[in-house]
Amino acid sequence: MKKPIVAKKQPMPEQDPAVRRGNFKEVPLGYTPEQAMAEAERCLLCPNPQCMNGCPVEVDIRGFLDLVRQGEFVAAARKIKETNALPAVCGRVCPQETQCEIKCVLAKKFDPLAIGRLERFVADWEREHDLVEIPPKKAPNGRKVAVVGSGPSGLTVAGDLVLLGYEVTIYEAFHKPGGVLMYGIPEFRLPKEIVQREVDYLVQLGVRIELNQVIGKTITVQELFSNTFA
Ligand code: SF4
Repeated sequence: MKKPIVAKKQPMPEQDPAVRRGNFKEVPLGYTPEQAMAEAERCLLCPNPQCMNGCPVEVDIRGFLDLVRQGEFVAAARKIKETNALPAVCGRVCPQETQCEIKCVLAKKFDPLAIGRLERFVADWEREHDLVEIPPKKAPNGRKVAVVGSGPSGLTVAGDLVLLGYEVTIYEAFHKPGGVLMYGIPEFRLPKEIVQREVDYLVQLGVRIELNQVIGKTITVQELFSNTFA
């Protein structure tokens, strides 16, 4: 027998307005494990999952939702990380409503699956339980890459290339990495600690980050080339 469709998303627990007006902490508190599993249970596990057509980094959304449904939260986080090194950030600030969730088949009649909230949940679960692991990397290929800027695109390309065996150095002009994630998005929307932990993960993968380096000022393009390609 077909399972009945649950029309509404699991609501996101939030700080009470009377409390949150007195602090700058994140407003949404994140799903509980029970809420996460109940939300993932709404997924129809479509044979041709349209949600995945809306994801710019091609996360295996159906695959990770199936793992959440079974309570396999760490495996779900690792499934996302196969193509996305920043799940705790993306789960919070990606515009899912115009990307993956708008394509979810449920959205034709009901609330779409809360894909972003579940991405955030599994990334937080893995980190908070100290279960973050370094995935297998390809053998070093002897090639070096310089990435200018440690904003979301710089971090993403660095994370992808280091897994493919490249030696990656990011040059960042400011004294902290993260770009717009660190300096542009307020704490109550994206806590700095979350950004720093995602950056720490990339460093654990082997990405080097040179801070306070303004290309063309503190380091010339020639020096950058000789550092990178020597
Ligand atoms: S389209 Fe919606 S229901 Fe189908 S697999 Fe994706 S999230 Fe699940």
